[in-house]
Formats: sequence, C-alpha cells, structure tokens
Amino acid sequence: MTLDIVCNFRKCRRSLSSQAWVTTCSHAFCVEHGKSEFRHNAENSLTCPACGNELRDKFDVIQADLKPSETFKSIVLAGLKPDTIMDVAMRAMSFWSYQIEQETLYQETLAKHSKEKLQCLEEASTINMKKLHAELEGCKRKITTLQTEFNKKRKQTEELNAKKAIPVIVMSLWIFLN
Ligand SMILES: [Zn+2]
Ligand SMILES: [Zn+2]
Repeated sequence: MTLDIVCNFRKCRRSLSSQAWVTTCSHAFCVEHGKSEFRHNAENSLTCPACGNELRDKFDVIQADLKPSETFKSIVLAGLKPDTIMDVAMRAMSFWSYQIEQETLYQETLAKHSKEKLQCLEEASTINMKKLHAELEGCKRKITTLQTEFNKKRKQTEELNAKKAIPVIVMSLWIFLN
C-alpha cells in the first residue's frame, strides 16, 4: 500500500514522498513551505503554520528524508536500548496516526459538503420541475378553453350560414316556378 502524507500548509496538500519538514506537534510540510516557514526565521521564534505551536527546540522541526537509504536505516537506531527503539517507533507511529486522522476528517468534511451541495441541487431541481409542471397544466387548460371557444364559434357560424341559405333557396324556387 502506498500512502503518502500531504503538506499541512493551508491549502497546499502536496503529496510528500521523498522530502518533508516534520514537527514534534505532528505536522508535515513540503520543501517549499518548510523553507519559507522555518529556514528564514530567527532562532526560538518558530511557530508551526498548521497549529501555531511554538517550536523552540532545534529538534522540534527537522527536514526528514522520507526515503532513507538502507545504510541509514541500519544505523539510525543502532546502539539504542530496545525500550528507546520502541519509544522512538511509537512516537513515529503516533505521528502517522495523527496525520491519517486529520486526512480522514478532511475527506469527511469534503464528502459532507458535496452531499449538501447535491441536496441543494436536488431541491432546486424539484422546485423547477414543479414550476414547469404547473406551467404545463396551465397551458393545457388554456388549450381546452380555446378549443371549446373555437367549437362554439364554429357552431354559431354554421347556424348563421344555414340561416343565410334559406332566402337563396326560396328565391331559386320562385325563379324556377315562374
Ligand atoms: Zn506545501
Ligand atoms: Zn503543528
């Protein structure tokens, strides 16, 4: 499983796979943000850009090689007592669990926002559908009314035409008889 921590500087979130600045308050930063935040500040005035913790000790923030060589891995804890080795490993693991916890919270917040956005869109879409449906019903009623009106007028016209035809028939009959 390849799992990388990400830069904790505001919205940077750059994946950290080879070099990183790490702090004792369990925060990690990319080379660019580590340089700008930690290198140019005067001693004893460093603060963590993620949590505001003061980083007074020279080991409160270090630049770590996230892909250490085999030689480094062989020597870095060599000579230390087993309980110290375990203590170091436990602290490194707690750094990781804090990072994973933060990432999970971040992803959960993202998912929540997306869900809320989707809900809003769905509600807006339902309202629009209802509005369109109402408009359609209105149009249908209008068509029915117009159709009824048209039928009425047509009937009136037919009746009128029939009435007009009677004198013509009478006249024709009179001419024929004479
Ligand atoms: Zn960064
Ligand atoms: Zn911090």
